[in-house]
This record gives sequence, structure tokens and C-alpha cells, in this order.
Amino acid sequence: MTQTSPETIPPRGSTPQVVLERLERYRESDVDWRSGKVWAYVFDPGEEAEALIKRAFTAYLSENGLDPTAFPSLLRLENEVVGMAAAHLGGDAEVVGNFTSGGTESIILACKAARDWARSRRPSLASSARRPKIILPSTAHAAFHKAAHYLDLDKVLVDVDSDSFRADVDAMAAAIDEHTIMLVGSAVSYAHCVVDPIPELAALAKARDLWLHVDGCMGGFLLPYMRRLGRETPAFDFGVDGVSSISMDLHKYAFAAKGASVVLYRDKSLRRHQIFTCADWPGYTISNPTIASSKSGGSLAAAWAVLHHFGDAGYLELARSVLAGADRVLDHIDAHADLRLLGRSDMNHVAFTSDTVPIFRVAEALNARDWYVQVQLSYRNSPGSIHLAINPANLRWIDQLLADLDDCVEQVRDSPANVLLENLGAALANLTVDSLDAAGIQEMLSIADVKPGTVPKVGAQLNELLDVLQPGVRERVLTEFMNELFSSPVSSERD
Ligand SMILES: *Cc1c(COP(=O)(O)O)cnc(C)c1O
Repeated sequence: MTQTSPETIPPRGSTPQVVLERLERYRESDVDWRSGKVWAYVFDPGEEAEALIKRAFTAYLSENGLDPTAFPSLLRLENEVVGMAAAHLGGDAEVVGNFTSGGTESIILACKAARDWARSRRPSLASSARRPKIILPSTAHAAFHKAAHYLDLDKVLVDVDSDSFRADVDAMAAAIDEHTIMLVGSAVSYAHCVVDPIPELAALAKARDLWLHVDGCMGGFLLPYMRRLGRETPAFDFGVDGVSSISMDLHKYAFAAKGASVVLYRDKSLRRHQIFTCADWPGYTISNPTIASSKSGGSLAAAWAVLHHFGDAGYLELARSVLAGADRVLDHIDAHADLRLLGRSDMNHVAFTSDTVPIFRVAEALNARDWYVQVQLSYRNSPGSIHLAINPANLRWIDQLLADLDDCVEQVRDSPANVLLENLGAALANLTVDSLDAAGIQEMLSIADVKPGTVPKVGAQLNELLDVLQPGVRERVLTEFMNELFSSPVSSERD
């Protein structure tokens, strides 16, 4: 590897204009989300809302959420945003919650509260030798795995139904034991965009004195509008007795700036366990509901602003338009001889696979035509798939996307075999985390052409190789990949 000098703080400063121009240029190879041709990652609220969000964000950029007594404005904004969220999700006056940086933080906090709630009631769990257990449908978001990892919880994964991809309540019931503290359901799940049977899970949780968290990060905001639009939508909110907590992202379908989510609790007796307080040091005493201590008020103000900008009627219209768009995509794929829907989406995301053509190559061919679609690797009973999020900005492109999709299916139908996969597939599939050594990982990274600080091209060939790896092996390889990615690039831009 070539020796490079690390980036240093520039010896002399530059004018704001020069600095801003450089920042602008750095974005050149980002996905072009403004085009409306990106079917993932960005929830584009349109130009007027975007301008408002930016102004609100910068207006509160420097206010510090560390101490709500010093910045009552932030306390008020948070209580108002949480109040709107609670009312939206069928909460009564008892429901409380907090504004967080995202779905992951909301989920980690709910798991922490559930853990400490269980420990406060069940002395057998208080000893650190007893790891509390959470029961997850196999479609639960990765954030729950992260929470278990950070909070030292045992996770039990239970396969979802292989047709509907909804949680299997009986199988989850069978997995409960004396260490179990929590059940999880999604409304909607990310991968297949379906609502788990929340009323059944809630009844189970209640009967067994367990915490039920509903992950409404993706669906919480939009699902109530779908119901009002006449769509049959399974019950999932605080109207269901037995739901303990709900996470709901505002930076998804409330179209807030990134860094905006809420975690809500049935009442204060549950939320109490979320709060961390420390008077055990000589500095200022802290009492933090959330993980971050010092935090900008920007994302909170922006979330508040966008909720007021669209209002209930505005969101209802947005929901109507994306739902109509998603229906067109769903119907087209459903009728396609070579494509197969994974479950029937309850919202505006669509996941599909193919039993006749290589699906990752379809994705690659689409992306080569200037679309950006997300790929999902196979996992347990869910085959490798393409995932489309249908946002307002995508609506004008639907016909062209579907035409290109049909074309791309034909384009890859007789494509040549993946030689690497033919030669290595069996060996890769047999790798286990324990059999994997540093040299093996390095070899895989070199196959993928990974270099420090630069983004490799992840094409169909690589996805087909990753797809045969066991999840634990994927995790090891990707960890090393990230470790390489976040390091000094071989050559740094200085101009
Ligand atoms: C996005 C998402 C999360 C995690 O949210 P982040 O904001 O990315 O941290 C959790 N659950 C579901 C269902 C999601 O869609």
C-alpha cells in the first residue's frame, strides 16, 4: 500500500465562499436524489418544504438540547412534536415520549426501558448473569440486533410466515421462557412492508406480562392516513391494549430532516426506565432521556416546522398520491410472468424477486440506466429481492421505471454465468464465522476490490457472492470492509 500523508487541518483558513464551493464539489458522485429516480434512502418533500426545513434547522442549529431548563423553547417544541405523534397513534393523555435522532435511537431506548422495567419487577433478572431475552420476528429491523448488542440482551429470532412475511404469533409464543422480557412487532417491516399481527402479539404480551414494542419507524406516520383513505390497515397503535411502546420516524414519511424520530410509551411508569441520570462526577449533573447529551435543536425545529407546513390535510394528500403510485407498481409486478412479489405490501414500498431471471442483475441493469434501486440479500425464508420505496418525487417516473424493468428482465435473461460464483460458491456457502480467518477476509475484500477510503462498485456479481454467504460471515466481511472504508484514502483531494 502506498504511503500517504494523512489529512491535516489546513495551515491557513479560507473564505466561506471557497469552503462552500469545495463542499459542493464533494457531492459530485453522490446519488442524484433530486432527479426523482432514486427509489431508496431519501424522502424528498419537494422544494418549498425543503427550503422551510433548512431555515428552521439553521434557526435552531446552536440551541442545545442538553438542558431543557436553559432552552424552554426546545422543551416546548419537543412536547408539541411528541404530543402530535401520540395523538396520531391513538394515544391518550397518559402517553409520553421523546424526540430522538432516528429510528435506531428510538429502538435502543425502548429496549433499554423494557430491560430496566423488567429488572425492576423481576429480581431474578437483576443479576448480570441472567441476560434478558427479546423475541424478534425474523423481519425485525437490524436496529433491534444493534440494541441487543449494545444492551447485552439475548435475541431469539422467529421465522415469519413465508407467504405473507408477517410475524408468526404461535411460534413467538412458543419461544417465550422465564428470561423473556419483550416481544417486537413491526408496522410496517422494512424488507416486505407488511404489518405484523399486532393485536395478537399485544394479547400475548399482556397474558405473559411482557413488554410489546411496535416498530412504526417506517409505517407509523403513514398507516393512519392509509386507513382514512379507505385502505384496510391492520391495527397497530396505542388503541391496541397491550402495546407498551412505539417508535415512529419523522425523517421518513413526515418528510422531516434526517435526525428526527420519536419513541412513545403507554405511560410515564414505562418511560421512567428510559432516562439516565448521573450525579456521580464533579461537573454538571446530567439527566438525559436520550442517548446524546449535547445536541442541536435543529432537527427538532425542522420536524416541528414540516408538521405545521403540511398539516393533516397535506399529509393525507401525500399519502393518497404515493399509495396510488405504489398500487401501479404492485399490479405491474404482480402481473409479470417473471417477477414475484414478496408478500402484499401494506403501504408504499414494494419488494419482489424472480424465480426465472437473476434478480441482482435486474437491479444492476436498472441502475446502469440511471435509476437507483436497493437490493436485499436472501435471508432465512426471504429470497434475494429488489426493494422500491415509492415517494412523491418518484411518481412522475413510474411508467418509465416499469418499462425499463421489463426491458432489464429480458436483458439479463440469458446473461452468462457468474464464473466466480461457479468456482467459489460452494466453498463460500460452507464458510462459518469460526472457520473464517483474517487472510480469508482479506481475500474476499480483494475480490470485491476494496481499497481504503474509496467506495467500490457493488454490482450483481458481488451481490451474488455475498448472497451465498451465511449472515454471520457477511457480518464479519462487512465489518472489515467498513474498517477499511473509514480510513485515509490513498490520495486526498487538495486544491
Ligand atoms: C428506518 C427503519 C428503522 C431504523 O431507523 P433509522 O432512522 O435508520 O435509524 C427501524 N425500523 C424500521 C421498520 C425502519 O424502516
